[in-house]
Amino acid sequence: MNYGWLKPDTSDEEYSRVVLHEFGHALGCIHEHQHSEAGIPWNRDAVYRYYMEKNNWSREQVDINLFTHYSKDITQFSHFDTESIMLYAVPKELTTNGFEVGWNRYLSETDKAFMSAVYPGENAGRTYTVQPGDFLSAIAEKFYGDGSEASWRRIYDANRNTIGPDPTKLTAGMVLVIP
Ligand SMILES: [Zn+2]
Repeated sequence: MNYGWLKPDTSDEEYSRVVLHEFGHALGCIHEHQHSEAGIPWNRDAVYRYYMEKNNWSREQVDINLFTHYSKDITQFSHFDTESIMLYAVPKELTTNGFEVGWNRYLSETDKAFMSAVYPGENAGRTYTVQPGDFLSAIAEKFYGDGSEASWRRIYDANRNTIGPDPTKLTAGMVLVIP
């Protein structure tokens, strides 16, 4: 883990981003831009200049952290996810065709689904992917045969981080743990 650039006056958002990213590494995740299918149209000279100047990296460190791609034979993977917390920002100054991605600050839906699949824990087999038009009481009804507030709150409480502050705002594709 590398927390070297976090300072007392660093914003909470940046702390959150860095901690999520570094814990991703601790749990075995590698960089999304090194996905075998990432295909980012890097302007390699610009990338070397940028990281050698900004991070004080050697060319070898840039190669290791940016340009090395991991074979599908040695990784488990999702599709290449431009919203992943494991992706570096890709400023358009560093690509050959204007492709860019900003800093991802939160776990993407794919991050959550992927990590739930590789670390199912005691919830193995008890996940549900939200369908268009779903709401929590219907999901509670489906699993518990009971759509009461107590039941849907049980699901909400277990998935507060995924769903966010508004329990009525479900997004199709969200992966929920069913306690
Ligand atoms: Zn990293």
